[in-house]
Amino acid sequence: MKHEARAWFEANWDPELALGDWWETLAASGWGFPAWPEEWFGRGLSGDAARSVSAERARVGAFGPPSGIATFLAAPSIFAYGTEEQKRRFLPGIAMGQQVWCQLFSEPEAGSDMASLRTRAVRDGDEWVVSGQKVWNSGAQFADRAILIARTDPDVPKHRGITFFLFDMRQAGVEVRPLREMTGDAAFNEVFLDEARVAETDRLGELNDGWRVAMTTLSHERDPNNSGLSQGGGTAFERPDLALSVAEYRRRQSKDMDAMSIALGGGIGEVFERIVARSRAAVEPARRQQLMQLHQLRQASKFSGLRARDAVRAGQQPGPEVSTLKLLGAEIGRRTRDLGLQAMGAQGTLCGADAPEGGLFHKYALFTPAGSIAGGSDEVNRNIIGERVLGLPKEPDESKDRAFRDVRSSTS
Ligand SMILES: Cc1cc2nc3c(=O)[nH]c(=O)nc-3n(C[C@H](O)[C@H](O)[C@H](O)COP(=O)(O)OP(=O)(O)OC[C@H]3O[C@@H](n4cnc5c(N)ncnc54)[C@H](O)[C@@H]3O)c2cc1C
Repeated sequence: MKHEARAWFEANWDPELALGDWWETLAASGWGFPAWPEEWFGRGLSGDAARSVSAERARVGAFGPPSGIATFLAAPSIFAYGTEEQKRRFLPGIAMGQQVWCQLFSEPEAGSDMASLRTRAVRDGDEWVVSGQKVWNSGAQFADRAILIARTDPDVPKHRGITFFLFDMRQAGVEVRPLREMTGDAAFNEVFLDEARVAETDRLGELNDGWRVAMTTLSHERDPNNSGLSQGGGTAFERPDLALSVAEYRRRQSKDMDAMSIALGGGIGEVFERIVARSRAAVEPARRQQLMQLHQLRQASKFSGLRARDAVRAGQQPGPEVSTLKLLGAEIGRRTRDLGLQAMGAQGTLCGADAPEGGLFHKYALFTPAGSIAGGSDEVNRNIIGERVLGLPKEPDESKDRAFRDVRSSTS
């Protein structure tokens, strides 16, 4: 299988192809997303086998498939809950990088407590009318579609009256306002929905069962084995220009990568190793000890990741163990940042292109706090581990069993 993949990449890879043509060819071959089902642009391979296909692709130097929320979260949710008709309609655009997706889950009063969301969807014939406010929506300024959760029944407790939709972002009634972060980028947004519309045929899963669908989405978001966001070709949050040659697209991308893509992409480990190798850190006893501890943490995370992957390979959805991996990932990010900046000495205080490694590591460093917030904060993941892994009593929540309509918000 490895040889077959390698032969295919050697025969078909051409950096002068238009990006859109390359992604179409890759999707048709099944080698772009080898872990996806055979009937949907994949080869049905296990995680390990799929990884070795990616390694062959990298060896040939071929550009990867599209990435971003489309492949990271929308596709796994559609695989798990989509009808055949929805798969036919949405998966081709996702696999070929023609459709950019975003995630409309969080709200100003519903981040960790996502079930308290107030965006409502009201049925109107064959459609739903959606109004409310979402926030922290990565890449929404470029998105064609969104995975959206909205309240469809306020008369039942908060977890039960939520429905999951595949929502069209390109319509009147959707206003996207970018938010600038301390990295200087505006990777995420506020999204205001004012009587926007979504067809009943774009509902994913059962009516009022959106919490269950969203939990599946989040388990993929917390799963470090889910490579849909970072291992592909495109940066995670942008609108790729499909008409550019792959070579030109790649050139522009490496020059102007946003902090979120740097943090999520693989290469930062190698940048860190170069920084440490150039410094005295590797010969100072105290630093050596810290570097060793970081290495141990990385190894522990890697092996726990492999165990979690076995469960998924056995046909299960990612379980609460991914919360441990998410916590570890955030801690590894913080330690990498601190040790990297210390190893640079005074140069660690620079920023922008003057800084070592063209400022790449500094952008990464500024983004690391996000690792312990995005996709569920450290505290929330600790609660999940406490309740679902260690069997501790559930956190009290007096609103849990009351009709959502009767639950007061901080502004009501
Ligand atoms: C880089 C990044 C990208 C993101 N992208 C998206 C996106 O594309 N789409 C989207 O919908 N959202 C996105 N988010 C939002 C993210 O999901 C939320 O920020 C997260 O769920 C936390 O919610 P909050 O910010 O409202 O914080 P809050 O829930 O208000 O939490 C504030 C603090 O209280 C703590 N806390 C809250 N509840 C508990 C509890 N029960 N026990 C103990 N401590 C608690 C938290 O840990 C945190 O420290 C993104 C966030 C980041 C950082």
